[in-house]
Amino acid sequence: MIKIAIVGFGKIAQDQHLPALQKNSDYQLVAVASRNTSLDGVAHYKTLEALLDAMPELDAVSLCAPPAVRYAQAQLALARGKHVFLEKPPGATLSEVEALSEQAKAAGKTLFASWHSRYAQGVAPAKAWLADKTIKSVQVNWKEDVRVWHPGQAWIWEPGGMGIFDPAINALSIVTEILPKPFFLKQAALQVPENCQTPIRAQLEFSYEAGAAIQADLDFLQTGPQTWDIHVETDKGTLKLSKGGSQLYIDGQLEKEGPDEEYSGLYARFAELVKSGQSDVDVAPLRHVADAFMYGRRETVEPFHEDT
Ligand code: NAP
Repeated sequence: MIKIAIVGFGKIAQDQHLPALQKNSDYQLVAVASRNTSLDGVAHYKTLEALLDAMPELDAVSLCAPPAVRYAQAQLALARGKHVFLEKPPGATLSEVEALSEQAKAAGKTLFASWHSRYAQGVAPAKAWLADKTIKSVQVNWKEDVRVWHPGQAWIWEPGGMGIFDPAINALSIVTEILPKPFFLKQAALQVPENCQTPIRAQLEFSYEAGAAIQADLDFLQTGPQTWDIHVETDKGTLKLSKGGSQLYIDGQLEKEGPDEEYSGLYARFAELVKSGQSDVDVAPLRHVADAFMYGRRETVEPFHEDT
């Protein structure tokens, strides 16, 4: 059994990591390290440092705090000989993720950059279906209401918080997984509220082989129905992934739908990596976000206030 601790016991840790760990017999949840939150019946430490000092027998940590503190925590855990599961995105910068990869390799420990949306029910069959098709165009529509899904999360608007890219990196994690070839940013427009450091809306255009365009329309102010869809036109029909990848349609017909087992899939993969002494660190989704910040045209828009 892998003795694991959750670090940063907030929304995603409570909603997804905890239930996924509780039903996987490969793991024993031995502690939570979180400044303000604890879990009944499980050892609690305020910081990762205190946890590591108190529990030398710990095998692994799952880092669920916001991305700006990911590197310092991962670096420390690896230095103390622990396997590390990184929530998405794996870091605030590409360089720090690369440094962690090197550190994990040198230490002989597992580093897993998790992308939960890749474990949505429709993603693997979509990848298989697209493998022998010619892509004509891709349209990503990722539109959600930040006030509903991220209440009180001021870090999203700070450097490293990524704004709309915090959810939209999930779309990029799917597109980079299902398309057979790489793609490159051609242009991007980022709308940044005047009181924030990160975009609230963005429109991206990527080029794919033979002139096929990939467009992404990303919006953090979507009220009413929420949209997490990816449409792919090919030479042999149309594919649509809906509801964050949990539903797959081919030519309008529902082909695959199932329960949300994304985090069960992630923890099964992490256990496999730990047992086989491997790491899995794909930075492709984060690289596209970095490109958008580097190459995008910024426009200042009206301030964002959570309560209005
Ligand atoms: P969150 O609830 O705001 O933060 C998680 C916890 O991290 C907080 O409760 C806090 O716990 C700790 N934390 C916050 N700032 C910290 C700091 N500066 N130093 C140390 N610890 C800090 O956020 P979340 O929604 O769970 O998101 C966390 C990560 O999961 C993000 O990378 C996000 O992209 C990813 N994720 C979120 C969702 C979602 O639906 N929310 C889905 C998938 C993935 P303490 O105050 O107790 O220390």
